[in-house]
Amino acid sequence: MKARVAPGGGRRLVIAIDGPSGAGKSTAGRALARRLGYLFLDTGAMYRALGLKALRAGVPLDAEAALAELARTTRIELAGSGDVVSLDGEDVSGAIRTREVSAAASRVSVHPSVRRVMVAHQQEMGRAGGVVLDGRDVGTVVFPHADVKFYVDADPRRRAERRHAELAAAGTASDVDAIEREIRARDHADSTRSDSPLTRAPGAVYLDTTGLAPEEVVQRMAAIVEERLRA
Ligand code: C5P
Repeated sequence: MKARVAPGGGRRLVIAIDGPSGAGKSTAGRALARRLGYLFLDTGAMYRALGLKALRAGVPLDAEAALAELARTTRIELAGSGDVVSLDGEDVSGAIRTREVSAAASRVSVHPSVRRVMVAHQQEMGRAGGVVLDGRDVGTVVFPHADVKFYVDADPRRRAERRHAELAAAGTASDVDAIEREIRARDHADSTRSDSPLTRAPGAVYLDTTGLAPEEVVQRMAAIVEERLRA
């Protein structure tokens, strides 16, 4: 009898998912990682944790040197399937999801010396493969040689509605128009900054999730990954 060999012969890939906020990257990334038995790294959560620390410590969000020093001396850990985020040992998984922290994360992430600290940490965590990373610069800067790259996008209104529903589920009332304005402002900041702007990496598979249910996004990603594993 012939032994059944797993597709890819047990190869453990690096999978990069980039795209704007609210496009469904982390929901799909987490589910894909679970399905493959991989680690899931939400790189945005790391910038959020640093943004939260800066707000708490009163470090101005434009003070690059002070923020880079803060990044070097801060312990940010991603546990579970990436949904538990700890900041110097404190579970901040909920605290990093506020609108104030979203804006702070976007502002701390423009600084090249802050990014260098974060990127080095991400490369270290993903080095061994068997990992799905989601962010803005994973396929362009963190792992430009990732085995599979996705660029996930969706209509801004749809993204705002999703974010509004997430906040409502967490018990926070919000105005969907205001959320859409914030999302557009963050998209603009993330896409126009000089260091590592959000852009579609060469070779990235483009997925528009506007009309797709979360399971459909994961199905499409898994089909592409399986195809790569067979190649
Ligand atoms: O993905 P999420 O919305 O949680 O990311 C929060 C912010 O962190 C983004 O608006 C972006 O400015 C920044 N970020 C980044 N590079 C990454 C991930 C997130 O600059 N790889």
